[in-house]
Amino acid sequence: MPPAAAAARDPEEDAAPAHRLHGLRAVVFDTDGVITDSARVHAAAWKEAFDDCLREWRERGGGRPGEEPRDRFRPFDVQEDYRRYVDGRSRLDGAAAFLASRGLDLPPGEPDDPPGNGTVRAVAARKERLFTAALRQGGVEAWPGTLRLLRVLHREGVPMAVISASRHARELLSGAGVPQVFDAVVDGHEAARLQLPGKPDPAVFLEAVRRLGVPPGQAAVVEDALAGVEAGRRGGFGLVVGVDRTAGPTSARDLRDHGADVVVTDLAELLPPGPRAGRHDEEG
Ligand SMILES: [Mg+2]
Repeated sequence: MPPAAAAARDPEEDAAPAHRLHGLRAVVFDTDGVITDSARVHAAAWKEAFDDCLREWRERGGGRPGEEPRDRFRPFDVQEDYRRYVDGRSRLDGAAAFLASRGLDLPPGEPDDPPGNGTVRAVAARKERLFTAALRQGGVEAWPGTLRLLRVLHREGVPMAVISASRHARELLSGAGVPQVFDAVVDGHEAARLQLPGKPDPAVFLEAVRRLGVPPGQAAVVEDALAGVEAGRRGGFGLVVGVDRTAGPTSARDLRDHGADVVVTDLAELLPPGPRAGRHDEEG
């Protein structure tokens, strides 16, 4: 390639993906937190819904004899509680897991329960209302490092799928300006239609690679949720990449403990470090 033409291209985009992805035939990406920064919007909506619920139950005197109520009713932590109980899970599973962690044995409720604090479904409905309102206000963006990796893989013809526990995945991706590079989309609608269990069950990932026609052992999973990397491990995927956006002291270790083979803070780390070095190696 003449020097002028080489200089006109982004060297990072021109390079092959890092060696960890090399040799794998397909990649399955989670949506929230991996492609889009919407995890922040989810966490804020959960916090408002849960904190209101905790407040109401504290006022009702919901503490147990001899228990320190501060522990049980302390506000939802958008880092720790989000990561541990709701991230990557369906809305209902997430609501049930967090409320159970605080010993709030709310009845499951009915599918058409309006937003409120009396049942698990009501709390989940409140979160949904808050989240969709926030989505409509915009502000969800794609991570630049992810977009670079998607472009490189797409140019190399690597089959890619995107999965999400959310029914808003397509809306999120198009709203964030993510190019249509995916050969398969398994979102919350599809999971419900096919009755696929949620993460940490690997069903959605297995459905994604089935649609790509690639065995899981020859595909990578890229996930930011503990339940998600666990699903990747259970599904027997060739590589499980954990994405640690918080870079907290324990989060990378937790991702590894739950099944991540490698942990990155940004997907650009899956691109080679040196400009074009990987490409020359490949061609040599
Ligand atoms: Mg996620």
